[in-house]
Amino acid sequence: MALDRLPRSRDDDFAPALVAARRALAERAAGCELPGIGGRPTEPAQARGNIEGLIGFVQVPLGLAGPLSVATSAGPREVYVPMATNEGAMVASYTRGMRLLAAGGGARSRVVREGLTQNPILVYDGLEAALAAREHVERSFARFVELVAATTRHGRLVGSTARVAGNRLLLEFVFTTGDAIGINMAARAAELLSLEIAERTGARERYVHGQDVEKRANSRALFAGRGRSVVAEACVPRAALAELARVTPEQLVAIWASYAVGYAQLGTHNWLVQSANGLAAVLVACGQDVAYLPECSSGQLDFQLTPQGDLYASASLPNLLVGTVGGGSGKGTARECLAILGCAGAGHANTFAEILGATVLAGDLSLMASFCAGDFVAAHERLGRNRPAEHGS
Ligand code: NAP
Repeated sequence: MALDRLPRSRDDDFAPALVAARRALAERAAGCELPGIGGRPTEPAQARGNIEGLIGFVQVPLGLAGPLSVATSAGPREVYVPMATNEGAMVASYTRGMRLLAAGGGARSRVVREGLTQNPILVYDGLEAALAAREHVERSFARFVELVAATTRHGRLVGSTARVAGNRLLLEFVFTTGDAIGINMAARAAELLSLEIAERTGARERYVHGQDVEKRANSRALFAGRGRSVVAEACVPRAALAELARVTPEQLVAIWASYAVGYAQLGTHNWLVQSANGLAAVLVACGQDVAYLPECSSGQLDFQLTPQGDLYASASLPNLLVGTVGGGSGKGTARECLAILGCAGAGHANTFAEILGATVLAGDLSLMASFCAGDFVAAHERLGRNRPAEHGS
């Protein structure tokens, strides 16, 4: 099904009829009604397991970017991307980036690696004992796999390493987690394995979240990856860049070279431009654990000139901690937003991650183009200002 362009109005883009028309397009894409997004309250019981001390649900404006064309591991997709945000001009920026991607035939996006890590630390009396424990870990992988398999149907231990640092043993367990982020199943398995190793090797202390990168920006985030690692790429024709964004491929390659110098001096782990913007908005909409944003948003942007004189653009996101099963993903408006993407429930986590990769690419392309063309501030002035006096508040 080819998706329609989203209707917009220069006179009143917030007129109820126009909002309803866009929601009708979302319902067509989702193949179901979207009562929660339309305003029906969520039953309190739906929040069971996600929160304590419930008093209600907050409201964040929800918009659609798109359509986004992307070739995923599950085949070609054309989707509207639900984004929950209060940042004016952002959804429009992503939509423009998606139009640029579509002009070149759409993005291609793939999960290139999968593995959720857990990093317990064990402490021994001395180096000899730590080395002996490392040998024990190296010999025991097959048994570890069996132990983990007894605790979860969808989680699987796929890697186990141990490094010695003084009298400490730095463990790393790697899991595939089906369609969930899988942090609960992985944490439980890591607890079990570290306890078993500690008991068999006489560890003095045990810290399950020892060398823990969980929810923190970290130096491995740019290259090692955690969760689902995604690469999205596209070729954007020179003519489309001129028509839709008033820039040339050479300008984009040049601005990227300058940004890279700045990023190198900062020592940042995030070589993308506005990944946190788009990811936060989709994660909120789709019931994900937004606290993973420091990891999720780390990654690498790349712009190159093709031999034909067009732009090759890619975004690498090594740490997408997202799922279409578990957490808040199956509940209320989150399930409705995943349905808009065609990604609700089991079997869709990789496609969801691949759509996120292409979304990030669209946003970075659009933002870099607006920096080049000098219209970044003007767009925010037009779309993103909320001076209290003008709104009577
Ligand atoms: P979860 O909410 O624990 O749900 C995953 C469960 O769904 C597993 O028990 C799994 O069963 C089952 N499942 C059924 N079909 C599945 C499928 N196709 N793929 C994968 N699992 C399937 O999800 P989670 O991703 O592990 O945990 C996310 C939640 O944990 C979020 O709410 C997050 O905020 C929270 N969290 C926990 C920690 C922690 O340290 N524990 C840290 C941060 C956040 P089987 O296990 O039998 O396969």
